[in-house]
Amino acid sequence: MGRRLVLLLSFVICLGTCQSVRAQEDSAAPVKLLPGLDKSLIDTSADPCVDFAAYACGHFSKLYPIPPDKSVYGSGAIVFDYTQQILHDLLNKVAVNDPKRTANEQKIGDFYATCMDEDAIHQAGLKPLQSELDRIAALTDKSQLTELLAHFQLINVNAFFSFGEQQDFKDAQKQIAVVDQGGLGLPERDYYLRTGDAPEKTRKQYVAHVAKMLALAGEPEDQAAADARKIMDLETALAKVSLDITSERDPNKIYHPEPVTELRELAPIVDWPRFFSLTGTPPITSLNVANPDFFKGMQAQIESTDLGTIKTYLRWQLVNSIPGYAMPKAMDEENFDFYSHKLRGTPVQPVRWKRCVAATDGALGEALGRVYVDSQFPAANKAFTLTMVHDIEGAMGHEIETLDWMSPETKIKAEDKLHSVANKIGYPDHWRDYSALTIVRGDAVGNATRAVEFEAHRELAKIGKPLDRGEWGMTPATVDAYYNPSMNDINFPAGILQAPLYDAQATDAENYGHIGAIVGHELTHGFDDEGSQFDGSGNLSNWWTEDDKKKFDTMTGCEVKEYSNFTAVDDVKVNGKLTLGENTADNGGIRLAYLAFLADAKRKGIDLSAKQDGYTPIQQFFLAYGQNWCGETRPEQLRLQVQTDPHSPRKFRDDGVVQNMPEFGRAFGCKTGQPMMPANACHVW
Ligand SMILES: [Zn+2]
Repeated sequence: MGRRLVLLLSFVICLGTCQSVRAQEDSAAPVKLLPGLDKSLIDTSADPCVDFAAYACGHFSKLYPIPPDKSVYGSGAIVFDYTQQILHDLLNKVAVNDPKRTANEQKIGDFYATCMDEDAIHQAGLKPLQSELDRIAALTDKSQLTELLAHFQLINVNAFFSFGEQQDFKDAQKQIAVVDQGGLGLPERDYYLRTGDAPEKTRKQYVAHVAKMLALAGEPEDQAAADARKIMDLETALAKVSLDITSERDPNKIYHPEPVTELRELAPIVDWPRFFSLTGTPPITSLNVANPDFFKGMQAQIESTDLGTIKTYLRWQLVNSIPGYAMPKAMDEENFDFYSHKLRGTPVQPVRWKRCVAATDGALGEALGRVYVDSQFPAANKAFTLTMVHDIEGAMGHEIETLDWMSPETKIKAEDKLHSVANKIGYPDHWRDYSALTIVRGDAVGNATRAVEFEAHRELAKIGKPLDRGEWGMTPATVDAYYNPSMNDINFPAGILQAPLYDAQATDAENYGHIGAIVGHELTHGFDDEGSQFDGSGNLSNWWTEDDKKKFDTMTGCEVKEYSNFTAVDDVKVNGKLTLGENTADNGGIRLAYLAFLADAKRKGIDLSAKQDGYTPIQQFFLAYGQNWCGETRPEQLRLQVQTDPHSPRKFRDDGVVQNMPEFGRAFGCKTGQPMMPANACHVW
């Protein structure tokens, strides 16, 4: 729901289906966290000046081969797996039906225990879906779609469009309603439109998948095959009026505040005032129609499609909205086979408990997070991180002051924005209240549905209310971080503040290379091609002089060119435009962390020429940074990532960045002109 431009680190690549790209056998040895600098990963036969990723991470895949139930495995995934184990232990304790449990413990414990009861879920088959299927069957006229779509929006069925709440881009204090494009079953628009053998093959596989799911939902096979083709036609028509993924990063392209009357003109097939009232939306007269052309196109498509096909499409979107763990066995396996095996290359389905831990975190993240933080997050981690964040903000202030390309006028605005950034570390000050959410032991589909409905109502209730700046968009146990331009805040959940990212045993150089670069990354998002369009209060408003903006675009153009030259897989190149914001954040992040480390070293009298374990502190800093991105990605996943993910593949998050840091080249004795020390380095921040 909703339209957010939240910019992630994407430390563990999930792409919305984390639960199906997760970990290994139950019997596997417990996962151990890596140290700040892991020398066993370094391949000293590689030349750091030619390929830094190969040097810093050369032995990773031999020591940590990609598990059969994952499509990506890397340093972040180790931290993720470790955290899953902790959550698993915590959930096992509260899964026992004990009257002494607190209200939150009952909820997370029963949700988890119900998810784990695979036999009961499989035995129930499609029964839990029957009332929803009956609603679709009862449709006799397109005018009845309003009621059904309102209900489906609340239970997260991706039918035709999406609906939710967002901060007004141009007035961040205001929380408004938003309708946006949606309704697709493939990862994004271009999956329907791209030409070539690989995209054709994916489309054929998708049609076959839809047919199988419809057959499993009770349709005769012939009819299911014919229906799947009709669904493909309908979704392709929706794709044609959707924005591509690069345009979706442009806030101006997805911001069209309109009176409700205008939306009624664009898509009269839905009775919008009634739709808003049925979803429990507080009274509104206007909203953000993110992509008006989509609604015009959707109207035309619904008008020209027969009711039978629309009902088939709704059945497919309903079935596809149920989380795999709550589906009957054959459907769960088919769902995994298409979305995880064919699209991402993952060979086998993860064991049950890992899927259920992830599902509990997804449904009740702050209830689980509260238990997690109490047992796992020492106050010292928060204190250290806060000091580091202040150091890095100081480094950014110094960078802005000394930038030679920016005018004093724009500098004042940039500094204003920097000083307004809110730092959120570990977990929220006020925990979410789940008392209105009922979790029933033994009702897997009901629990999943009630949890998404609870969340939908929570979001919609914000419309027209004062903004809560303390809200978090990630759960405390998440191993990731983000920047939100409308909030102008950087967020580091407790899950990412553990070794090797932050390790009390590690050297300062290592900690600044790890978590320091991540803090710098999130802070730089406030000043990347997208974040820089928002001011310190979170409003979409141009604070740049025309001349400075031009210079900034030239500077970022250097990065677009650099990354567009990297080949990700086969003949597929990195999309330099789609990944620009993340690449700018990676490049700025390491520079800020580097400057902050120099200040820290000066303050503490760290001798920068003294080697420890064979490396100087500066070398340790870069190696720790490099080891953030060790790992391997299956080719299918890599193809999907390049087409859908604004983050560059992990190898280029190392090599692409150090190429722009002459300080790296000097630390490793590289010569100008070597691949990691080119003469034409890019420098934005
Ligand atoms: Zn990012």
